[in-house]
Amino acid sequence: MNDTVTDAPATEPAAAGRQARLAEVLACPACHAPLRLDGGETIVCAACGHTGRRRGGQLKFGGFESEELTADALNRIKEFVKKRFNKVYPTAIKVLSPVMDRNLIMPFLRSFDLDRDLVADFGCGTHRRDQRVICMDGGTYPNVDIVTDLRKVPLAEGSLAGGISIAVLEHVPDPAAHIAEMHRLLRPGGRMLVFVPFMQPFHASPYDFQRYTEVGLREQFPQFEVLSVKVGAGPTSGMLWTLQEWLAMLLSFGSMRLYRAILPLTWILSPLKVLDLLLARHPAAAVTASGFVIEVRKPS
Ligand SMILES: [Zn+2]
Repeated sequence: MNDTVTDAPATEPAAAGRQARLAEVLACPACHAPLRLDGGETIVCAACGHTGRRRGGQLKFGGFESEELTADALNRIKEFVKKRFNKVYPTAIKVLSPVMDRNLIMPFLRSFDLDRDLVADFGCGTHRRDQRVICMDGGTYPNVDIVTDLRKVPLAEGSLAGGISIAVLEHVPDPAAHIAEMHRLLRPGGRMLVFVPFMQPFHASPYDFQRYTEVGLREQFPQFEVLSVKVGAGPTSGMLWTLQEWLAMLLSFGSMRLYRAILPLTWILSPLKVLDLLLARHPAAAVTASGFVIEVRKPS
């Protein structure tokens, strides 16, 4: 999902404040013992010896190997563009993408007092939606605060007031393990906002495993209270992306080379996504919606 209107500009005091708050809740991803930052580049767990690394403001405990991010041809291009054009990538995707996301993420973030409440982005990619939000991802992008396996996050139990997970769960083979980690990290009463796709073509980033119906999504969070499930991206978005793939196949006569050349030309149809301003609110929108957003709460 790509609804960042404008990613917040980087400011040094904000980064320092974020890192200071992060240091207070840092915990070993292996044994959950508190971790101390002593200024060195290597971070060692005093309890179990597990290690992480610090480079500038970025902490690294696992994450993807670069080969994993470049195995798929389209994802290889995406990874190159993400690293080279880190700042403009979210905006470019917003314009060229056939998917029009409803504006649900920023209102969710604004429902917290971000100066006081610690909120994390589980799988931020190249997004930084607010300077006070902790950015976590398996990929080593410049905006990421913690490069980590999102099933073993180096933060203490109950350390987060909230979190978002935007278009991440379809990319992991074991979403239940990711959701269990969200549950561990949230304090009682803490809330998560999670976007997942329903009617979207295959898109490796670096993997792609599943889609969710509206009712199927509710079933993924048995340890939480479900506060709401909404259409996160409407039926036009679902149809357009599929139509673009279909056109590129139809006109490429079995040639992958031609298919790859034609696909970007079909992006000319992407502006039709504005029809979702109407159709995402249709009572039948969930039947062919591009994706859903669920808000859940950890019971107090
Ligand atoms: Zn440890």
